[in-house]
Amino acid sequence: MAASDITTGFAEFDKPQQKDLDRCVHCGLCLNACPTYRQVGLEMDSPRGRIYQMNLVANGAPMTDSYVEHLSLCLACRGCESACPSGVQYGKLIEAARAEIENKVPPTGFARLARWAVFEKLLPSRTNLRIAGGLLWMVQKSGLQALARSLGLLKLFGRLGDIERLSPAAELPTFFTQYGKVFPAVGKRRHKVALLGGCIANISFARLNEATVRVLQKNGCEVHVPDAQTCCGALHLHQGLRDQTRGLARTNINALLNGGYDAIITNAAGCGSTLKEYHEILEHDADYSGKARQFSALVKDVTEFLAALELKPATQPVNATVTYQDSCHLAHGQKIRSAPRQLLGAIPGLELREMPGSDLCCGSAGVYNVVQNEMAMGLLEKKMQSVALAKADIIATANPGCLLQLRAGVEIKRTGQRIVHVIELLDEAYR
Ligand code: SF4
Ligand code: SF4
Repeated sequence: MAASDITTGFAEFDKPQQKDLDRCVHCGLCLNACPTYRQVGLEMDSPRGRIYQMNLVANGAPMTDSYVEHLSLCLACRGCESACPSGVQYGKLIEAARAEIENKVPPTGFARLARWAVFEKLLPSRTNLRIAGGLLWMVQKSGLQALARSLGLLKLFGRLGDIERLSPAAELPTFFTQYGKVFPAVGKRRHKVALLGGCIANISFARLNEATVRVLQKNGCEVHVPDAQTCCGALHLHQGLRDQTRGLARTNINALLNGGYDAIITNAAGCGSTLKEYHEILEHDADYSGKARQFSALVKDVTEFLAALELKPATQPVNATVTYQDSCHLAHGQKIRSAPRQLLGAIPGLELREMPGSDLCCGSAGVYNVVQNEMAMGLLEKKMQSVALAKADIIATANPGCLLQLRAGVEIKRTGQRIVHVIELLDEAYR
């Protein structure tokens, strides 16, 4: 079935379903786990309040500006899902509610244009990502960015200064140069795996992707980087762009499912969460629902995959203290908390110091920190207070978006910690 056929045919499924809304018994046990409620103290910005509003709309109330605003302020971090004793699948509800908003009251003017440029033209296009990465690299290398920062020029544009701090750096050569390659296992081949490079991560986290390949090789994996893969669609899904997500999901399924892989690996928790939901996103597509189930079953976060292996011992000490920030889409979306800590524990010389509230969102949340910058920076402020209590040299996490947000936090606070992905530390310990 072509994507265009699904655009109209699936609209009924692209809204919160009453049976899912009805699971909420309004107990309020999720409130304290919700970063936006903790920040503003408003019921309408809590999980319970948002479900109440979704229920009103599902029962015929109009989709007001207020409804759209309260739902837009949600991070989709799914902290409430972990706290809920009634099994409310809040992530599913907020994604569906945003899809319904997108269908019924889509953005207009500049917001529509920006959305088209980013989600239609940039993220799914290797060519356009490369061009954007090249331009970013030139701005950074020319010293223009550093000059603007040192002169405080960006502060003149209000929040633009904060948003600029969150912009990723371009790393050349990009990881796109590794597409189509196969990296042999070190020693006996125990697994054949595929690595997904992401979209922006190919430009801004190219060295992290390379470290991921090395660590997998070291642990007996033959690592394939399939050339026909594309963006996973996570950012599209969080914006309510479900048809685009479905199109990207089909491309990835076609590219990877028949490769004979033992696992499809990602080092980005946000991507992993969506890749593991392909079977839900495509459940009404007769041609792809079965394939999507097989695909999702193969997806593993790299920390989850490695922690389940007999890990090759690391010999190079990393003599430092580290605190771990749970990525929301790993801890709440995929229920993976111990695997990254287990890998950190396997590094000689490294001491793990937990921070309070490590699974509260840092404010990154995909493009949230750009579109809801004020709330995102407020949450980052709180996160940096928690980080300070851990008194650690390094902040480790397992998601590129969190890395960017925490780097901005360290820069603003001038606290000097290193910010790394768990896999980068393991890679150091293997060298
Ligand atoms: S989402 Fe769960 S925890 Fe929150 S009010 Fe509803 S039932 Fe209670
Ligand atoms: S997803 Fe996060 S921000 Fe949204 S309601 Fe749940 S806990 Fe709050």
